[in-house]
Amino acid sequence: MSFDYDLFVIGGGSGGVRAARVAAGDAGAKVALAEEDRYGGTCVIRGCVPKKLMVFASGYSVAMQDAREYGWDVTPGGFDWPRFRTRMEAELDRLEGVYRRLLANSGVETYDARATVQDAHTVRLATGETRTARHILVATGGHPVRPDIPGADLGITSNDIFHLPELPERILIVGGGYIACEFAGVLNGMGVEVTQYYRGAQILRGFDDEARGLIATEMMQNGISLKTGTNILEMHGEDGGGIRVKATNGDMERFDQVLFATGRDPNTAGLGLEAAGVTLGRRGEIEVDAYSQTAVPSIYAIGDVTDRVNLTPVAIREGMAFVETVFKGNPTPVDHDLIPSAVFTQPEMGTVGMTEEEASAREPIEVYCTSFKPMQSSFIDRPDRVLMKLVVSKETRRVLGCHIVAPGAGEMIQLAGIAVKMGATKEDFDRTVAVHPTMSEEIVTMKSPVRTA
Ligand code: NDP
Repeated sequence: MSFDYDLFVIGGGSGGVRAARVAAGDAGAKVALAEEDRYGGTCVIRGCVPKKLMVFASGYSVAMQDAREYGWDVTPGGFDWPRFRTRMEAELDRLEGVYRRLLANSGVETYDARATVQDAHTVRLATGETRTARHILVATGGHPVRPDIPGADLGITSNDIFHLPELPERILIVGGGYIACEFAGVLNGMGVEVTQYYRGAQILRGFDDEARGLIATEMMQNGISLKTGTNILEMHGEDGGGIRVKATNGDMERFDQVLFATGRDPNTAGLGLEAAGVTLGRRGEIEVDAYSQTAVPSIYAIGDVTDRVNLTPVAIREGMAFVETVFKGNPTPVDHDLIPSAVFTQPEMGTVGMTEEEASAREPIEVYCTSFKPMQSSFIDRPDRVLMKLVVSKETRRVLGCHIVAPGAGEMIQLAGIAVKMGATKEDFDRTVAVHPTMSEEIVTMKSPVRTA
């Protein structure tokens, strides 16, 4: 049977674009890709990239105060959001252009249209046309969800935050995950009065408890009004703008905006997947095996739509492994073990491997941990602390987890992640000479465990 293409990719985000261009460029396959929105997907257009630019922008308020303390004659003015946003939009336009060019230069044919799956080898475009392919790769990502509460449509999600015409004076952020905590810090740094409601006892569920505790303390110290054990009961629009929020703790407060950062769901609705035989999980995620293959042998799925580990570099890895497996005759399962990652809170967190809680539930461990005022803050009497922590197996001496809360923790954990992935022991860390004076030198100078479990 002959097909229009060897591969049809649905979704032009990080995972889809990488798979398409490597299949076409390296493996010489005839490839098409359909994208209904902007090329670059969540990461480039409404996620990691604009978020990180906002993290940079917001950091200057503290940096300017610090500069004064260090002897500089600076007078911070206000933050000009429209000026920053215009420049950020131009950068996203540039990056979208790069994505489009990468595809074109690899010989991938693109369709700027929504595509759905008609059957195991056929894709239907929004234009009504159909195209056939030997393989279909679904890489449609996910979208933010709002909780089911009265008035929820008055709030915004992370998709909207980058387009605000002006910054609100007072914002309520709902949620305690990556997105909620990152934007709480970003907006606070930009001069917005931030309140954050989290329904649980401590933010950043799933991360190391000690690290979460320090981040929460510092967020509050930075001026964020963090209310745990709190959720919205209902919200109403006010005449003349603003939203009145009734909280589960009895508070009644008025905010200019409410940002829901209450999780993301996979983009599978209306894609025709189930009718084609693809099985979906409870949250609508596409079920795949270790090779990203779905229940229909010719259909594969990668990235957030599979709800495995929802991070850009993981989607890219999954895309590369898919191409190895399907187009290079080299079956490659995706390795989801020991993935380092960062949360761009203020302070930032970098983490790889098991938390103390996970590890101690599995085997006897030693915990090495230090928390201190770094030199740069200590010099100007700023109260912020950093944390360096290693979770070590008592039996094998392997470092099972490394958790860092510090400025630049994302950069640090990338490198520590190599050692942990290689199976380094505590003694390997000890053998490494410290780089002085740095914060991260503490990771190789912790002599005695603070506790065993
Ligand atoms: P998360 O799943 O991380 O967090 C969702 C938060 O919302 C949790 O605190 C959850 O509470 C809370 N929540 C869920 N439902 C409700 C509800 N009905 N009412 C009140 N609160 C609710 O999702 P995010 O949206 O923050 O991020 C999505 C994913 O995107 C992340 O998991 C991550 O993979 C990725 N991401 C990665 C980043 C990075 O690498 N730096 C940055 C941003 C996103 P509870 O804890 O009780 O469930």
